[in-house]
Amino acid sequence: MPEGDSLVRLADQLRPVLESKTLVRTDFRTPQLATLDLSGRLVDAVRPWAKYLLFRAGDLTILSHLKMEGRWEAYPLTNDAGTPVTPRWRHPGWQARCVLQTERHQVVGFQLGLLEVVPTASVADRLAFLGPDLLDPDWDELPRADALMNEAVRRLSSDPDRPVGLALLDQSLVSGIGNIYRCEVLLLARLDPHRSVGSVPDLPGLLGLARDLMRANIEPARPGSRPPRRTTTQVTPDDGAPYGVRVTPARATVQHRPGRSTPPGQRTWPSHWVYGRQREGCLRCGGPVAVEPFGDEQANSPAESRTLYWCRQCQR
Ligand SMILES: [Zn+2]
Repeated sequence: MPEGDSLVRLADQLRPVLESKTLVRTDFRTPQLATLDLSGRLVDAVRPWAKYLLFRAGDLTILSHLKMEGRWEAYPLTNDAGTPVTPRWRHPGWQARCVLQTERHQVVGFQLGLLEVVPTASVADRLAFLGPDLLDPDWDELPRADALMNEAVRRLSSDPDRPVGLALLDQSLVSGIGNIYRCEVLLLARLDPHRSVGSVPDLPGLLGLARDLMRANIEPARPGSRPPRRTTTQVTPDDGAPYGVRVTPARATVQHRPGRSTPPGQRTWPSHWVYGRQREGCLRCGGPVAVEPFGDEQANSPAESRTLYWCRQCQR
């Protein structure tokens, strides 16, 4: 499962080539949609919704989910001199599920985990099962932000005995958090992932911390530069903040780290506290990182997306 911030960045990449552009050809390569033709329609919005990516074209909306292997890629149909070129896909043609072509670009969805076309008016109903999206722009506006937080806390609290490390991954409770943010936010909050949701001392503070970590990673890349790698370590100690941690803007030039100094011999500060650090150890205390399967077996997700990394010393 991708993290929610990946979808925001993907939408940012595709928006300039699709939004306000007319589709001149569409090709849906799934049995249910094989006869559908959306050519002639204007794409009026490209937007992420939790871990879904939506393309709105008038009264119909293309709804996709990447699941594990899926990706959307854009290929120009002309070179810099304006001469037509034949796009060379980076993946085999049989993996393509959807082709959306405009005058200037071909946008191809490969190995999509889900592809549907639904009436735009029914999108909200279709996705109503999802909990509040931590990257929803509405978090910036009161009182809407309060309503989102209340709804997320209400959903999470509906099963207070559930381990918090599982509840955070359940998109029907709160959406956007994938395995990386689950591991990292629980380390920063110093919470044992196995403790119950009901025993978490500050649930809104925990969600706020997760949201801030994710938002720090969705700044659009500067033109011509590669998108910065995802990091959860740009934080600073702050006694007034929930769990004593405040997320600093991404790519701050000065980093303050709770606990430890820069590891010897390391030129760049590592991206994560515990996630994937089974060899290096916990970045906070240096102790061993525990690795165990801890996810919803029913969710049909590969083992990697369920592997929990955590620190027994920091997370009690
Ligand atoms: Zn530790």
